[in-house]
Amino acid sequence: MNYYIEPIARLINELSRLPGVGSKTAQRLAFHIINMPEEHVKSLAKSINEVKGHIKYCHTCGNISEEDICNICRNPDRDPSIICVVEDIRDVTAMEKTREFKGLYHVLNGTISPMDGIGPDDIRIKELLARVQDNRLEEVIMATNPNIEGEATAIYISKLLKPMGIKTTRIAHGLPVGGDLEYADQVTISKALEGRREM
Ligand SMILES: [Zn+2]
Repeated sequence: MNYYIEPIARLINELSRLPGVGSKTAQRLAFHIINMPEEHVKSLAKSINEVKGHIKYCHTCGNISEEDICNICRNPDRDPSIICVVEDIRDVTAMEKTREFKGLYHVLNGTISPMDGIGPDDIRIKELLARVQDNRLEEVIMATNPNIEGEATAIYISKLLKPMGIKTTRIAHGLPVGGDLEYADQVTISKALEGRREM
């Protein structure tokens, strides 16, 4: 990228680190930014800065939040007797779009994946077990993705929860095997949730 002057080369380099942005797209975006009105560029830069400064992770569920406890955990209309366990914060958004689920979430921040050196202690399982102590809790829905790691993680957690007397269910396989909750449409997610079975 050394045929661009330094500030442009730097911007292209930063943009090309974003997922799904190849060097061609990075160049196009960089030149788009150069041609943008100054106030738009400033507000873009400001929002990028602020997203890091203002966004935290919910102390309870691990979802992104502006406060220590997220909107969902703070909402008195949500049902605390049911927790839906997902891999990723993006899965919370996918589930919320269905408007079907009225319980709380628990974000694992990944799955157990020995191949990648990710063990049970590397994801938020301890935090989930701590929440299970709440005697209002009746059911934990495992909504990890229907791939090898997601299944293995669901089974691992269900084995920990069973002796604690917690009903553990797995979302149905309306979801394509090897698929990703995040990309499933709302009807598919609703059906998968509806058809969940006890583990
Ligand atoms: Zn929360």
